[in-house]
Amino acid sequence: LILPGGESTVQGKLLKELGMFDPIKQKIRAGMPVLATCAGMILLAESIEGQPDGQPSSWFGTMSMTVKRNAYGRQLGSFHTIQEMKGMGEVPMTFIRAPYIEKCEEGAEVLAEIEGNIVAVKYKEQYGLAFHPELDEDDTIHSAFLESIKKYKALSK
Ligand code: GLN
Repeated sequence: LILPGGESTVQGKLLKELGMFDPIKQKIRAGMPVLATCAGMILLAESIEGQPDGQPSSWFGTMSMTVKRNAYGRQLGSFHTIQEMKGMGEVPMTFIRAPYIEKCEEGAEVLAEIEGNIVAVKYKEQYGLAFHPELDEDDTIHSAFLESIKKYKALSK
C-alpha cells in the first residue's frame, strides 16, 4: 500500500466515510508493507502533535512514533535537500509543508535525520517518510519498498 501525501485530516475522514479505514488498518496490522509519505506518514503515527482541537491524536496508529504536523511551518517552509538514508546512500528529499518525527518508540528504526530531526523511519514493514520520493528521479526508496513486498509475499505463501 502507498499512502501518499496530501492533507491527513481529509484523508483520514474520507477513509472512514468510505468504509476503508478498518479493513486497511487490519491489513497493516497483519504485516502488509506500506510506503507512507508526508500526510500518509501522519496517518500511520501512533501519536500526532499539532492537531487542531477536535481532531484525533492518531489515525491508524500502526507505527510506534510521534510525529509533529507542519513542523517546518507553512507552505513557504517547503524545501529540497540531499541526505543520507541508512543503508541506501544519499537520496534527494523534497519536503512540502512537512511533518517530522518527534520521537520513535521501541522497534522503530531511524533511517534519516536532518539537523537533528528524524525524517524517515522504518517500523516492521512500514516506511514513514516526511518527504516525497515520488517528486525526484531517484528510485532507491521505491526499490527498498519493493524488497519489503517481495519478503511479505514470500512469507505469505
Ligand atoms: N501538511 C499536511 C498535513 O499535515 C501534509 C503535507 C504533505 O503531505 N505534503 O496533513
